Amino acid sequence: MNLVNLKDEQQQVSFTDAVKTGLGRNQGVFFPTDLRKLDNIDALLELPFAERSTEILAHLIGDELPKDTLAEMVTRAFNFSVKLEKVDSKNYCLELFHGPTLAFKDFGGRFMAECVGLFNQGERVTILTATSGDTGAAVAHAFYNKPNVDVVILYPEGKISLAQQKLFTTLGGNIHCYAVNGSFDDCQALVKQAFLDDELKSKLGLNSANSINISRLVAQVCYYFEALAQLPKAERDNVHISVPSGNFGNVCAAMIGSVIGLPIKKLSATTNQNDTVPRFVTSGNWDPKATLESLSNAMDVSKPNNWPRVQSMIDSDKFDKHDFYSRSISEQVTASVMQDIANLGYIAEPHTAIAYEGLKLDQDDNSTGIFLATAHPAKFKESVEEVLNQQISMPDVLQSALDKACLAQPLEADYKQLKAAMFETLLVS
Ligand SMILES: *Cc1c(COP(=O)(O)O)cnc(C)c1O
Repeated sequence: MNLVNLKDEQQQVSFTDAVKTGLGRNQGVFFPTDLRKLDNIDALLELPFAERSTEILAHLIGDELPKDTLAEMVTRAFNFSVKLEKVDSKNYCLELFHGPTLAFKDFGGRFMAECVGLFNQGERVTILTATSGDTGAAVAHAFYNKPNVDVVILYPEGKISLAQQKLFTTLGGNIHCYAVNGSFDDCQALVKQAFLDDELKSKLGLNSANSINISRLVAQVCYYFEALAQLPKAERDNVHISVPSGNFGNVCAAMIGSVIGLPIKKLSATTNQNDTVPRFVTSGNWDPKATLESLSNAMDVSKPNNWPRVQSMIDSDKFDKHDFYSRSISEQVTASVMQDIANLGYIAEPHTAIAYEGLKLDQDDNSTGIFLATAHPAKFKESVEEVLNQQISMPDVLQSALDKACLAQPLEADYKQLKAAMFETLLVS
Protein backbone atom coordinates (compact mmCIF):
# COMPACT_ATOMS: atom_id res chain seq x y z
CA MET A 1 0.00 0.00 0.00
CA ASN A 2 1.37 3.38 -1.01
CA LEU A 3 0.08 6.39 0.91
CA VAL A 4 0.43 10.10 0.34
CA ASN A 5 0.40 12.87 2.93
CA LEU A 6 -2.69 14.93 2.05
CA LYS A 7 -0.92 18.12 3.13
CA ASP A 8 2.38 17.41 1.39
CA GLU A 9 2.27 15.16 -1.64
CA GLN A 10 6.07 14.89 -1.66
CA GLN A 11 5.75 12.60 1.35
CA GLN A 12 4.80 9.10 0.26
CA VAL A 13 5.07 6.14 2.60
CA SER A 14 4.37 2.41 2.85
CA PHE A 15 1.62 0.97 5.05
CA THR A 16 4.26 -0.05 7.60
CA ASP A 17 5.67 3.48 7.84
CA ALA A 18 2.21 5.06 7.94
CA VAL A 19 1.29 2.79 10.86
CA LYS A 20 4.54 3.56 12.67
CA THR A 21 4.43 7.33 12.23
CA GLY A 22 0.67 7.94 12.45
CA LEU A 23 0.69 11.53 11.30
CA GLY A 24 2.75 12.95 8.42
CA ARG A 25 4.63 16.23 7.97
CA ASN A 26 2.70 19.46 8.65
CA GLN A 27 0.23 17.34 10.62
CA GLY A 28 -1.07 15.87 7.38
CA VAL A 29 -2.92 12.55 7.35
CA PHE A 30 -1.89 9.73 5.04
CA PHE A 31 -4.24 8.38 2.41
CA PRO A 32 -3.85 5.45 -0.03
CA THR A 33 -2.90 6.64 -3.52
CA ASP A 34 -4.47 3.73 -5.28
CA LEU A 35 -7.78 2.25 -4.15
CA ARG A 36 -8.54 -0.47 -6.68
CA LYS A 37 -11.86 -2.29 -6.94
CA LEU A 38 -12.14 -5.80 -5.56
CA ASP A 39 -13.35 -8.37 -8.04
CA ASN A 40 -16.38 -10.49 -7.44
CA ILE A 41 -18.01 -8.82 -4.48
CA ASP A 42 -20.85 -11.37 -4.49
CA ALA A 43 -18.47 -14.28 -3.92
CA LEU A 44 -16.65 -12.29 -1.25
CA LEU A 45 -19.90 -11.70 0.60
CA GLU A 46 -20.41 -15.46 0.79
CA LEU A 47 -17.21 -15.98 2.83
CA PRO A 48 -17.13 -16.15 6.65
CA PHE A 49 -16.21 -12.86 8.38
CA ALA A 50 -12.56 -13.61 9.23
CA GLU A 51 -11.76 -15.11 5.84
CA ARG A 52 -13.44 -12.25 3.98
CA SER A 53 -11.74 -9.65 6.20
CA THR A 54 -8.35 -11.20 5.40
CA GLU A 55 -9.13 -10.88 1.66
CA ILE A 56 -10.19 -7.24 2.02
CA LEU A 57 -7.15 -6.30 4.10
CA ALA A 58 -4.80 -8.17 1.76
CA HIS A 59 -6.34 -6.26 -1.15
CA LEU A 60 -5.92 -2.91 0.62
CA ILE A 61 -2.50 -3.44 2.21
CA GLY A 62 -0.97 -5.43 -0.65
CA ASP A 63 2.11 -7.61 -0.41
CA GLU A 64 3.70 -5.80 2.53
CA LEU A 65 2.10 -8.42 4.79
CA PRO A 66 2.06 -12.13 3.94
CA LYS A 67 -1.49 -13.38 3.73
CA ASP A 68 -1.09 -16.11 6.33
CA THR A 69 0.31 -13.58 8.83
CA LEU A 70 -2.61 -11.30 8.07
CA ALA A 71 -5.07 -14.16 8.56
CA GLU A 72 -3.64 -14.80 12.03
CA MET A 73 -3.77 -11.11 12.94
CA VAL A 74 -7.40 -10.91 11.83
CA THR A 75 -8.36 -14.00 13.81
CA ARG A 76 -6.81 -12.59 17.00
CA ALA A 77 -8.08 -9.03 16.50
CA PHE A 78 -11.67 -9.76 15.42
CA ASN A 79 -12.44 -12.42 18.01
CA PHE A 80 -16.00 -11.24 18.68
CA SER A 81 -19.16 -11.02 16.65
CA VAL A 82 -20.90 -8.40 14.50
CA LYS A 83 -24.70 -8.52 14.58
CA LEU A 84 -27.28 -7.06 12.23
CA GLU A 85 -30.64 -6.58 13.95
CA LYS A 86 -33.85 -5.61 12.19
CA VAL A 87 -35.38 -2.62 13.96
CA ASP A 88 -38.28 -1.56 11.74
CA SER A 89 -39.84 -2.60 8.41
CA LYS A 90 -36.82 -1.61 6.30
CA ASN A 91 -34.03 -0.66 8.67
CA TYR A 92 -31.34 -2.64 10.40
CA CYS A 93 -28.98 -1.80 13.20
CA LEU A 94 -25.37 -2.94 12.81
CA GLU A 95 -24.20 -3.79 16.32
CA LEU A 96 -20.47 -3.18 16.58
CA PHE A 97 -20.27 -3.31 20.37
CA HIS A 98 -19.68 -6.98 21.11
CA GLY A 99 -15.92 -6.60 21.68
CA PRO A 100 -14.06 -6.40 25.01
CA THR A 101 -14.74 -2.67 25.61
CA LEU A 102 -18.27 -2.59 24.18
CA ALA A 103 -17.74 -0.08 21.37
CA PHE A 104 -16.77 -0.29 17.70
CA LYS A 105 -13.31 1.10 18.52
CA ASP A 106 -12.28 -2.44 19.49
CA PHE A 107 -12.01 -3.34 15.78
CA GLY A 108 -9.49 -0.62 14.96
CA GLY A 109 -7.70 -0.70 18.31
CA ARG A 110 -7.13 -4.45 18.27
CA PHE A 111 -6.00 -4.58 14.65
CA MET A 112 -3.66 -1.66 15.26
CA ALA A 113 -2.15 -3.50 18.24
CA GLU A 114 -1.48 -6.48 15.95
CA CYS A 115 0.23 -4.22 13.40
CA VAL A 116 2.36 -2.41 15.98
CA GLY A 117 3.37 -5.73 17.54
CA LEU A 118 4.51 -6.98 14.14
CA PHE A 119 6.29 -3.84 12.93
CA ASN A 120 8.04 -2.73 16.12
CA GLN A 121 9.54 -6.04 17.15
CA GLY A 122 11.94 -5.38 19.98
CA GLU A 123 11.86 -1.59 19.61
CA ARG A 124 10.38 0.50 22.38
CA VAL A 125 7.08 2.26 21.45
CA THR A 126 4.90 4.77 23.22
CA ILE A 127 1.36 5.01 21.96
CA LEU A 128 -0.01 8.48 22.64
CA THR A 129 -3.70 8.98 22.08
CA ALA A 130 -6.52 11.38 22.84
CA THR A 131 -9.92 9.91 23.51
CA SER A 132 -13.39 11.35 23.25
CA GLY A 133 -14.57 8.38 25.29
CA ASP A 134 -14.21 5.00 23.63
CA THR A 135 -10.82 4.96 21.92
CA GLY A 136 -9.08 5.04 25.29
CA ALA A 137 -10.60 1.80 26.47
CA ALA A 138 -10.20 0.00 23.15
CA VAL A 139 -6.55 0.97 22.79
CA ALA A 140 -5.75 0.34 26.47
CA HIS A 141 -7.21 -3.17 26.39
CA ALA A 142 -5.63 -3.97 23.03
CA PHE A 143 -2.11 -3.02 24.24
CA TYR A 144 -2.41 -3.95 27.93
CA ASN A 145 0.69 -5.89 29.08
CA LYS A 146 2.17 -6.03 25.56
CA PRO A 147 5.98 -6.08 25.84
CA ASN A 148 7.95 -2.91 24.90
CA VAL A 149 4.78 -0.83 24.63
CA ASP A 150 3.60 2.01 26.84
CA VAL A 151 0.26 3.68 26.25
CA VAL A 152 -0.48 7.28 27.21
CA ILE A 153 -4.14 8.32 27.10
CA LEU A 154 -5.46 11.87 27.36
CA TYR A 155 -9.15 12.38 28.07
CA PRO A 156 -11.26 15.46 28.81
CA GLU A 157 -11.90 15.37 32.54
CA GLY A 158 -15.56 15.08 33.46
CA LYS A 159 -16.71 14.96 29.84
CA ILE A 160 -16.92 11.22 29.30
CA SER A 161 -19.17 8.71 31.03
CA LEU A 162 -17.94 6.95 34.17
CA ALA A 163 -18.15 3.56 32.46
CA GLN A 164 -16.09 4.81 29.52
CA GLN A 165 -13.48 6.27 31.84
CA LYS A 166 -13.16 3.35 34.25
CA LEU A 167 -12.63 0.90 31.40
CA PHE A 168 -9.15 2.35 30.82
CA THR A 169 -8.12 4.39 33.88
CA THR A 170 -8.25 1.36 36.18
CA LEU A 171 -5.82 -0.89 34.31
CA GLY A 172 -2.45 0.49 35.47
CA GLY A 173 0.72 -1.36 34.35
CA ASN A 174 1.77 -0.04 30.94
CA ILE A 175 -1.38 2.10 30.59
CA HIS A 176 -0.81 5.73 31.74
CA CYS A 177 -3.82 8.07 31.83
CA TYR A 178 -4.14 11.84 32.14
CA ALA A 179 -7.39 13.64 32.95
CA VAL A 180 -7.05 16.87 30.99
CA ASN A 181 -8.69 20.05 32.14
CA GLY A 182 -10.21 20.85 28.72
CA SER A 183 -12.17 19.45 25.78
CA PHE A 184 -11.43 16.53 23.45
CA ASP A 185 -10.16 19.01 20.86
CA ASP A 186 -7.67 20.28 23.48
CA CYS A 187 -6.50 16.70 24.03
CA GLN A 188 -6.20 16.15 20.29
CA ALA A 189 -4.22 19.40 19.94
CA LEU A 190 -1.76 18.19 22.65
CA VAL A 191 -1.25 14.95 20.76
CA LYS A 192 -0.62 16.80 17.52
CA GLN A 193 1.90 19.03 19.28
CA ALA A 194 3.72 16.04 20.70
CA PHE A 195 4.14 14.73 17.18
CA LEU A 196 5.93 17.92 16.20
CA ASP A 197 8.41 17.45 19.04
CA ASP A 198 11.40 15.55 17.69
CA GLU A 199 12.99 15.08 21.11
CA LEU A 200 9.89 13.42 22.54
CA LYS A 201 9.34 11.42 19.39
CA SER A 202 12.80 9.93 19.31
CA LYS A 203 13.27 9.36 23.05
CA LEU A 204 9.95 7.62 23.50
CA GLY A 205 9.38 6.06 20.06
CA LEU A 206 6.11 7.89 19.76
CA ASN A 207 3.13 6.53 17.81
CA SER A 208 -0.49 7.55 17.74
CA ALA A 209 -3.51 5.32 18.09
CA ASN A 210 -6.07 7.87 17.03
CA SER A 211 -8.17 7.19 14.00
CA ILE A 212 -5.53 9.12 12.09
CA ASN A 213 -3.67 5.80 12.19
CA ILE A 214 -4.36 4.05 8.92
CA SER A 215 -4.36 0.57 10.51
CA ARG A 216 -7.53 1.46 12.41
CA LEU A 217 -9.31 2.67 9.31
CA VAL A 218 -8.57 -0.34 7.12
CA ALA A 219 -9.78 -2.65 9.89
CA GLN A 220 -13.08 -0.81 10.03
CA VAL A 221 -13.73 -1.32 6.32
CA CYS A 222 -14.29 -5.03 7.06
CA TYR A 223 -17.51 -4.71 9.05
CA TYR A 224 -19.28 -2.77 6.30
CA PHE A 225 -18.86 -5.83 4.08
CA GLU A 226 -20.17 -7.97 6.93
CA ALA A 227 -23.25 -5.74 7.19
CA LEU A 228 -24.16 -6.42 3.56
CA ALA A 229 -23.28 -10.09 3.89
CA GLN A 230 -25.82 -10.44 6.67
CA LEU A 231 -28.57 -8.69 4.69
CA PRO A 232 -30.98 -10.87 2.73
CA LYS A 233 -29.68 -10.92 -0.90
CA ALA A 234 -32.80 -9.19 -2.24
CA GLU A 235 -32.08 -6.17 -0.04
CA ARG A 236 -28.45 -5.59 -1.02
CA ASP A 237 -29.04 -3.43 -4.12
CA ASN A 238 -30.16 -0.17 -2.60
CA VAL A 239 -28.40 0.22 0.71
CA HIS A 240 -28.22 3.44 2.67
CA ILE A 241 -25.76 3.49 5.58
CA SER A 242 -25.79 6.03 8.39
CA VAL A 243 -22.73 6.48 10.59
CA PRO A 244 -22.76 8.54 13.79
CA SER A 245 -19.73 10.76 13.26
CA GLY A 246 -17.29 12.70 15.42
CA ASN A 247 -13.76 12.45 14.11
CA PHE A 248 -15.10 11.01 10.81
CA GLY A 249 -12.90 7.92 10.84
CA ASN A 250 -15.75 5.45 10.77
CA VAL A 251 -17.56 7.08 7.85
CA CYS A 252 -14.21 7.35 6.07
CA ALA A 253 -13.89 3.55 6.34
CA ALA A 254 -17.40 3.14 4.89
CA MET A 255 -16.45 5.37 1.97
CA ILE A 256 -13.25 3.41 1.35
CA GLY A 257 -15.44 0.29 1.31
CA SER A 258 -17.62 1.86 -1.35
CA VAL A 259 -14.62 2.98 -3.42
CA ILE A 260 -13.27 -0.58 -3.52
CA GLY A 261 -16.61 -1.94 -4.66
CA LEU A 262 -19.06 -2.43 -1.81
CA PRO A 263 -22.48 -1.37 -3.16
CA ILE A 264 -23.47 1.52 -0.90
CA LYS A 265 -26.02 3.80 -2.60
CA LYS A 266 -26.12 6.54 0.00
CA LEU A 267 -23.93 7.39 2.94
CA SER A 268 -24.94 9.61 5.84
CA ALA A 269 -22.44 10.98 8.35
CA THR A 270 -24.60 12.24 11.16
CA THR A 271 -23.24 14.45 13.92
CA ASN A 272 -24.54 15.80 17.20
CA GLN A 273 -24.69 19.54 17.81
CA ASN A 274 -20.97 19.77 17.00
CA ASP A 275 -21.78 20.41 13.38
CA THR A 276 -18.62 21.63 11.65
CA VAL A 277 -19.01 19.18 8.75
CA PRO A 278 -22.77 19.58 8.14
CA ARG A 279 -22.25 23.35 8.01
CA PHE A 280 -19.26 22.92 5.72
CA VAL A 281 -21.20 20.65 3.34
CA THR A 282 -23.95 23.27 3.04
CA SER A 283 -21.90 26.47 2.99
CA GLY A 284 -18.41 25.48 1.83
CA ASN A 285 -16.93 27.28 4.85
CA TRP A 286 -14.76 25.40 7.31
CA ASP A 287 -15.60 27.17 10.53
CA PRO A 288 -15.14 25.04 13.68
CA LYS A 289 -16.77 26.42 16.81
CA ALA A 290 -16.08 25.69 20.48
CA THR A 291 -16.88 22.04 21.30
CA LEU A 292 -20.23 21.54 23.03
CA GLU A 293 -20.91 18.76 25.52
CA SER A 294 -23.57 16.33 24.33
CA LEU A 295 -25.36 13.14 25.29
CA SER A 296 -23.30 11.49 22.55
CA ASN A 297 -19.97 12.60 24.04
CA ALA A 298 -17.77 10.39 21.84
CA MET A 299 -18.78 12.73 19.01
CA ASP A 300 -17.99 15.95 20.84
CA VAL A 301 -15.44 16.94 18.23
CA SER A 302 -15.41 20.18 16.31
CA LYS A 303 -12.19 19.67 14.34
CA PRO A 304 -12.56 16.22 12.86
CA ASN A 305 -9.16 14.82 11.96
CA ASN A 306 -10.38 12.46 9.28
CA TRP A 307 -12.35 14.95 7.24
CA PRO A 308 -9.49 15.61 4.75
CA ARG A 309 -9.56 11.89 3.87
CA VAL A 310 -13.30 11.92 3.23
CA GLN A 311 -12.99 15.10 1.25
CA SER A 312 -10.19 13.70 -0.89
CA MET A 313 -12.49 10.86 -2.03
CA ILE A 314 -15.31 13.29 -2.81
CA ASP A 315 -13.06 15.81 -4.58
CA SER A 316 -11.53 13.12 -6.77
CA ASP A 317 -15.02 11.76 -7.65
CA LYS A 318 -14.21 8.38 -6.14
CA PHE A 319 -17.40 8.90 -4.18
CA ASP A 320 -20.28 10.92 -5.65
CA LYS A 321 -20.91 13.96 -3.49
CA HIS A 322 -24.65 13.73 -4.24
CA ASP A 323 -24.74 10.42 -2.38
CA PHE A 324 -23.14 11.88 0.74
CA TYR A 325 -25.32 13.45 3.41
CA SER A 326 -24.29 15.10 6.63
CA ARG A 327 -26.83 16.32 9.16
CA SER A 328 -26.60 17.57 12.70
CA ILE A 329 -29.04 16.27 15.31
CA SER A 330 -29.93 18.38 18.36
CA GLU A 331 -29.85 17.14 21.95
CA GLN A 332 -33.61 17.27 22.19
CA VAL A 333 -34.16 15.24 19.03
CA THR A 334 -31.52 12.72 20.16
CA ALA A 335 -33.48 12.05 23.34
CA SER A 336 -36.82 11.79 21.57
CA VAL A 337 -35.40 9.41 18.96
CA MET A 338 -33.99 7.19 21.73
CA GLN A 339 -37.56 6.98 22.99
CA ASP A 340 -38.94 6.27 19.49
CA ILE A 341 -36.49 3.39 19.04
CA ALA A 342 -37.35 2.04 22.49
CA ASN A 343 -40.99 2.03 21.36
CA LEU A 344 -39.90 -0.25 18.50
CA GLY A 345 -38.50 -2.63 21.12
CA TYR A 346 -34.81 -1.73 20.75
CA ILE A 347 -32.61 0.05 23.30
CA ALA A 348 -30.20 2.48 21.64
CA GLU A 349 -27.66 4.75 23.30
CA PRO A 350 -27.36 8.38 22.08
CA HIS A 351 -24.79 7.85 19.26
CA THR A 352 -26.87 5.05 17.77
CA ALA A 353 -30.04 7.15 17.98
CA ILE A 354 -28.32 9.94 16.05
CA ALA A 355 -27.39 7.49 13.29
CA TYR A 356 -31.00 6.30 13.08
CA GLU A 357 -32.38 9.82 12.82
CA GLY A 358 -29.80 10.82 10.20
CA LEU A 359 -30.84 7.82 8.13
CA LYS A 360 -34.57 8.58 8.33
CA LEU A 361 -34.10 12.22 7.31
CA ASP A 362 -32.62 11.41 3.91
CA GLN A 363 -33.88 7.91 3.21
CA ASP A 364 -35.58 6.93 -0.07
CA ASP A 365 -38.78 4.90 0.18
CA ASN A 366 -37.37 1.80 -1.46
CA SER A 367 -33.96 1.65 0.19
CA THR A 368 -32.72 -0.62 2.94
CA GLY A 369 -31.23 1.34 5.82
CA ILE A 370 -28.36 0.29 8.04
CA PHE A 371 -27.51 2.50 10.99
CA LEU A 372 -24.54 1.80 13.19
CA ALA A 373 -24.76 0.96 16.88
CA THR A 374 -21.30 2.13 17.87
CA ALA A 375 -21.57 1.47 21.62
CA HIS A 376 -23.44 -0.77 24.03
CA PRO A 377 -26.26 1.10 25.82
CA ALA A 378 -24.76 0.24 29.23
CA LYS A 379 -21.72 2.37 28.41
CA PHE A 380 -24.11 5.32 28.62
CA LYS A 381 -26.17 3.94 31.48
CA GLU A 382 -26.78 7.32 33.14
CA SER A 383 -28.19 9.06 30.07
CA VAL A 384 -30.03 6.01 28.70
CA GLU A 385 -31.80 5.42 32.03
CA GLU A 386 -32.65 9.06 32.41
CA VAL A 387 -34.05 9.47 28.90
CA LEU A 388 -35.95 6.19 28.80
CA ASN A 389 -36.91 6.19 32.44
CA GLN A 390 -36.08 2.51 32.79
CA GLN A 391 -33.25 0.48 34.34
CA ILE A 392 -30.76 -1.28 32.10
CA SER A 393 -28.48 -4.09 33.20
CA MET A 394 -24.69 -3.86 33.38
CA PRO A 395 -22.51 -6.38 31.54
CA ASP A 396 -19.89 -7.99 33.85
CA VAL A 397 -16.86 -6.32 32.22
CA LEU A 398 -18.33 -2.91 32.92
CA GLN A 399 -19.39 -3.67 36.46
CA SER A 400 -15.95 -4.96 37.42
CA ALA A 401 -14.24 -1.89 35.91
CA LEU A 402 -16.64 0.41 37.76
CA ASP A 403 -15.70 -1.27 41.04
CA LYS A 404 -12.00 -0.40 40.62
CA ALA A 405 -10.18 2.86 41.45
CA CYS A 406 -9.29 5.43 38.80
CA LEU A 407 -5.49 5.74 38.41
CA ALA A 408 -5.43 8.80 36.11
CA GLN A 409 -3.31 11.89 36.90
CA PRO A 410 -4.75 15.40 36.47
CA LEU A 411 -3.18 17.58 33.75
CA GLU A 412 -3.69 21.12 32.45
CA ALA A 413 -4.20 21.47 28.69
CA ASP A 414 -0.61 22.62 28.43
CA TYR A 415 2.01 20.92 26.27
CA LYS A 416 4.97 21.64 28.59
CA GLN A 417 3.20 19.86 31.43
CA LEU A 418 2.37 16.88 29.26
CA LYS A 419 5.94 16.53 28.07
CA ALA A 420 7.34 16.78 31.59
CA ALA A 421 4.85 14.21 32.87
CA MET A 422 5.62 11.80 30.03
CA PHE A 423 9.38 12.05 30.53
CA GLU A 424 8.99 11.55 34.26
CA THR A 425 6.79 8.48 33.90
CA LEU A 426 8.35 6.85 30.89
CA LEU A 427 12.07 7.62 30.86
CA VAL A 428 12.74 5.92 34.18
CA SER A 429 10.80 2.75 33.48
C1 LIG B 1 -15.72 7.27 18.43
C2 LIG B 1 -17.20 7.10 18.43
C3 LIG B 1 -18.01 7.64 17.43
C4 LIG B 1 -17.47 8.52 16.34
O1 LIG B 1 -16.67 7.81 15.42
P1 LIG B 1 -15.66 8.63 14.49
O2 LIG B 1 -14.89 7.59 13.75
O3 LIG B 1 -14.78 9.44 15.41
O4 LIG B 1 -16.49 9.51 13.61
C5 LIG B 1 -19.36 7.35 17.46
N1 LIG B 1 -19.92 6.62 18.44
C6 LIG B 1 -19.16 6.11 19.43
C7 LIG B 1 -19.84 5.32 20.51
C8 LIG B 1 -17.79 6.32 19.48
O5 LIG B 1 -17.05 5.81 20.46
